Amino acid sequence: MPVADVPVTDMPVPDVPLPHRPLGILAALPQELGDLIEAMRAESGVRTVTHGQRDYHLGTVHGAPCVVTLARIGKVAAAATVSALIHVFDVQAVIFTGVAGGVGAQVRVGDIVVANELVQHDLDASPLFPRFEVPLLGVSRFAANAALANALAAACERFVTEEGAVVAARFGTREPRVHRGLIVSGDRFVASAAAVIALRDALPDALAVEMEGAAIAQVCYEYGVPCAVVRTISDTADDHAPASFVSFLTEIAGAYSNAILKRFLEAKRVS
Ligand code: SAH
Repeated sequence: MPVADVPVTDMPVPDVPLPHRPLGILAALPQELGDLIEAMRAESGVRTVTHGQRDYHLGTVHGAPCVVTLARIGKVAAAATVSALIHVFDVQAVIFTGVAGGVGAQVRVGDIVVANELVQHDLDASPLFPRFEVPLLGVSRFAANAALANALAAACERFVTEEGAVVAARFGTREPRVHRGLIVSGDRFVASAAAVIALRDALPDALAVEMEGAAIAQVCYEYGVPCAVVRTISDTADDHAPASFVSFLTEIAGAYSNAILKRFLEAKRVS
């Protein structure tokens, strides 16, 4: 039966009307979620809980019980949001979807990167701790959950096989490729060739740069919650990045997110 579509303000421990522990799905910006909340509204209805200045949307979408929310931008915002997903909404796992700057030599606008590992590229407490290592935790690279990352990558591959040519023609990009590897995160929009060179020097295997993923991976690691991150490349983190980011976000990001999440969640229903 559809749950009531009633906003509830500042309710710290919601009565989650879901049959199983839900999946947490988050993005930084609304365009990165595509039509996910509308699809949930049509499928089960949506119950919205406001907590810590964020709206958490509860319901079932593509057959999977989910809590969907926006983190906003940056590592602190992402860490705060994922903490609430874990503590208030008791999610069984966390999926982050969004756009990123391409850093790997083979990574182009319109490609997709699924993280195997995530690192905070702006974290540096050296010489007390090795560069990139989270002090007192002893970890610099946080692993994505392998099963979730494999399932996300499989959803991306199905999307590319089924719709890649159409997407490329529609958006004027090349046919998307799916990459797996290191995503780096920091509180900085990277937008210069020099900054990309510096990132490649410091982290030669970095495929993409963004501002939230490694923060989410750290919180999930500390609480033992599986997580995975998928990023569509909106720009190549160089001088063209601001314009490329804005046009990709406005025109394309939602279509990718819809296509990937639909396939991922539908497969989850039968698995
Ligand atoms: N001026 C923009 C800010 C965008 S920040 C605005 O007002 O909306 C960029 C967002 O997209 C972040 O959430 C980050 O995770 C991702 N991103 C895309 N390209 C990026 C890049 N080149 N460097 C860092 N983050 C990037």
